[in-house]
Amino acid sequence: MAKNPKAADSRRGCSPTRRPQPRRAKAAPAASSAPDIEDLAPAVPAAAPAALRAQLLRWYDAHRRDLPWRCASGGEEERAYAVWVSEVMLQQTRVPVVVGYYERWMARWPTVRSLAAATQEEVNEMWAGLGYYRRARFLLEGAKQIIEKGVFPRTASALREVRGIGDYTAGAIASIAFNKVVPVVDGNVVRVISRLYAIADNPKESSTVKRFWELADQMVDPLRPGDFNQAMMELGATLCSKTKPGCSECPISSHCQALALSHENSSVQVMDFPRVVPKAKPRRDFAAVCVVQIAQGLEEEAPDAKDNDNLFLLIKRPEEGLLAGLWEFPLILVDEGKTDFQNRRKAMDKYLSKLLSIDVGQRSDVIFREDVGEHVHIFSHIRLTMHVELMIINLKDGVDRLCKKGADSTKLKLVNESSMESMGLTSGIRKVYNMVRAFKEKRLAVSEKGHVPTRKRTRRLKQ
Ligand code: SF4
Repeated sequence: MAKNPKAADSRRGCSPTRRPQPRRAKAAPAASSAPDIEDLAPAVPAAAPAALRAQLLRWYDAHRRDLPWRCASGGEEERAYAVWVSEVMLQQTRVPVVVGYYERWMARWPTVRSLAAATQEEVNEMWAGLGYYRRARFLLEGAKQIIEKGVFPRTASALREVRGIGDYTAGAIASIAFNKVVPVVDGNVVRVISRLYAIADNPKESSTVKRFWELADQMVDPLRPGDFNQAMMELGATLCSKTKPGCSECPISSHCQALALSHENSSVQVMDFPRVVPKAKPRRDFAAVCVVQIAQGLEEEAPDAKDNDNLFLLIKRPEEGLLAGLWEFPLILVDEGKTDFQNRRKAMDKYLSKLLSIDVGQRSDVIFREDVGEHVHIFSHIRLTMHVELMIINLKDGVDRLCKKGADSTKLKLVNESSMESMGLTSGIRKVYNMVRAFKEKRLAVSEKGHVPTRKRTRRLKQ
């Protein structure tokens, strides 16, 4: 969400008489053509804040969902922490998914102090599967910042100083935990406001975003700002949904200009608001992924592998950029025209040799190598096609050469099969791992213990 106007934190000066002005009607459309939404005058006056607030809060008191972060116990700071964690998780993820993550997170780190003592690795593990991992990193950095300062910020402007806290999260924490009269604007609130005021402008444009914040600022209840903000979000998440708004049950339908317009003109629907802006096409990337399994001679070098002699090699991604600092199988981007078998293997061998000292054929004995298949993973702006292969090797020098202490050991690790099952992996890498498991079960007839096949049953790669 774009910037909140700086005035957002100075809500105290706002009086209920500061109503937004409805857009003026443009010239009437030609009789023969269907009217454009933007040419239609609002059919009801702008919402009367006092009545709207009362109706919405009454509805919220009666219908709000029982969500764990709404029952956070303790003082204001405990509540602020709970709101912060839940709002960050909810930014890109649906409520039913967030509930479990939230409960596990709060059981492990019930206070901002306990979170500040966690490592990035632990936080990433806990976050695995929620996506948008930058959020987890910022939560940890923000917690450390707050503990360093010694006080939990109480105002929206002070909260915005914390790493990763933007206008929306600052407004949510300040209003819900500290009862500050500040607005919040998220996707649900945008939908409700754009319908209430029949705003047909592009909701992504900065001038429109600014207007949403101004309207939200004027609407927020001065006595129960936190509940009012949650009520707006709740209405957008439930009754005022994208495609099936329940207008007949809506507590504020008498204020809704989009609904009134739809009654006056059959060519208008409330779903016309907010305007749908076509998304930019995601970039198409292609990657070669090599799931490297190290098969033999492991007991001395990898004590945690005693029960299972299959180790998988994981590489840590760079600390900046997409999926920063997360673990993955060896992965390299390849050009679209070079995704064929030969080119991928050539590029992967070069990568393994240069960065990991796995000189395929020289320092390692390849006992199996075969393509497993493709997995397409969709990020917000990238469509990544991963061409996955499985390579089972026997390292001639032993695994300690790979995992020697020092700088390199922070960038790669060997994980045994049972740990792979339980560790936090990104959903893309988890899917790749599951693909490989299914492939092995089918193709290699792995024994019940999960051991790799003997050489008799495998074939060597042609060097
Ligand atoms: S009347 Fe319908 S469109 Fe208007 S705010 Fe209520 S649910 Fe949304």
